[in-house]
Amino acid sequence: MSSREVPLDEFATDFGGLRRAVPKVVHRMPSAFPSVLLSSGRQLTLRGAGHSCDGQTVTDGELLVTYAPKTAAAQVRDLGEGLIEVPAGMSWHGLERYLNRRSRAVPVLPNYLHMSVGGTLSVGGAGIDSVRYGMQVDHVERIQLIDGTGASRWCSRTDHPELFRFALGGLGTAGLIERAVLRTVPYHRYTHVHRAHHATLTELAGHTERIAQRDDVDIYWALLRRGRLVSTTGWRGSDVGRCDDENCAIVPNLPSVEHDDITETAFAVGDRVRMWTDYVVPAGQLAPMLATVEALLSRYPLNRVLMMLYILIVRRPPDATSFAFTPVRTDPVSIGLGVYTTVDHDPAATAATRDVFHELLERCCELGGRPYLYGANDLDDAMTERLYGADLDHLAQLRSSHRLEHVNAHLPLVSATRRTPSHNGRW
Ligand SMILES: Cc1cc2nc3c(=O)[nH]c(=O)nc-3n(C[C@H](O)[C@H](O)[C@H](O)COP(=O)(O)OP(=O)(O)OC[C@H]3O[C@@H](n4cnc5c(N)ncnc54)[C@H](O)[C@@H]3O)c2cc1C
Repeated sequence: MSSREVPLDEFATDFGGLRRAVPKVVHRMPSAFPSVLLSSGRQLTLRGAGHSCDGQTVTDGELLVTYAPKTAAAQVRDLGEGLIEVPAGMSWHGLERYLNRRSRAVPVLPNYLHMSVGGTLSVGGAGIDSVRYGMQVDHVERIQLIDGTGASRWCSRTDHPELFRFALGGLGTAGLIERAVLRTVPYHRYTHVHRAHHATLTELAGHTERIAQRDDVDIYWALLRRGRLVSTTGWRGSDVGRCDDENCAIVPNLPSVEHDDITETAFAVGDRVRMWTDYVVPAGQLAPMLATVEALLSRYPLNRVLMMLYILIVRRPPDATSFAFTPVRTDPVSIGLGVYTTVDHDPAATAATRDVFHELLERCCELGGRPYLYGANDLDDAMTERLYGADLDHLAQLRSSHRLEHVNAHLPLVSATRRTPSHNGRW
């Protein structure tokens, strides 16, 4: 087993830098034996690449880091019929390169590729392809999951379906994803994109809703950045016949090459903290959600800290699983709104930004939406119960029966399962 004491500053923060703690011991996969660690009963925090933004992977205890992009490629197995078996610690970048060489591709790539497969599947995964293919978890055939006794089992829609439903998008609360079998799609090197500029958020909301009603679009994203509102609609393939004005282009390898807006935004923040969050509302509800954001945009703190608004459309496959904690529940078409801020290392500024996020979360819930759990969301027990209801009880049962009480126990989802049940027969 590989474990070591870590120097003071290494692993000191999550990606957002909001929470700070220095783990006493860092275990690394694949050299660590995860089943031995998980069965030890010691408090353990799971981490992929650590890019979640609100302390989800921060601990002053023991950390199990699965991200191992350099060694992962040797462990990939092509199962045929478009299925690929991947270690959780692989990066999307490595996986997409591996697949492209074989004329295949990941159906939905995130726009930043140096994150772990296991960590992203543990939050849900969305991207510019989501308008066609839904969430990344919609393309998982099965996962190998290790529980708190160290037992490993394959879970799918038919084998251990409850574990499957809770582990994907479940922030590591239902066990450690060790490997995943993913569906792939044919690789198209080129994408035809059409950019549109919008004068107002209202106009952008209308445009996005119209695209959400269509089922012939392969790519969609929209941004408010540096005062400009731009949407991009795309079709895979290099059909130049579609390019009839200056706003059209044929680009290779989206999102890995062209789609650098998020990456640039992510890494250009100096010594400020990143407070990112995404809200996902059912199609038809973007306008009121954006109106709430717009009302806050001219006031402190959003007028100082906002770097970008980011919009995606998520169209789920017809047979989609109703995952317990993913940002899309059962709605066939949803729209995600990312609110990405960078804030001074100042408690008053972060508290003010949290207040804004709280207001937006309330609005998102009123509109029938959900937060994306990788982000900065203050989920108190009442809000958690309102969002996830009876699934919190299911999670408590799963964690108890699979002896997972010591794994990721710091997460709000888990503390909400320890609340006194208040459903009084409502569920
Ligand atoms: C620059 C940037 C760009 C992003 N772009 C996108 C995007 O386009 N689309 C999108 O959907 N998201 C995006 N995100 C959010 C991203 O998907 C999440 O932050 C995701 O968690 C990152 O994966 P990770 O490997 O860093 O996971 P981590 O942050 O390490 O872990 C996330 C959660 O999963 C748990 N976990 C990690 N590994 C495992 C495992 N193997 N088994 C069980 N539980 C595990 C952790 O305990 C934690 O609760 C972006 C984030 C950043 C910082």
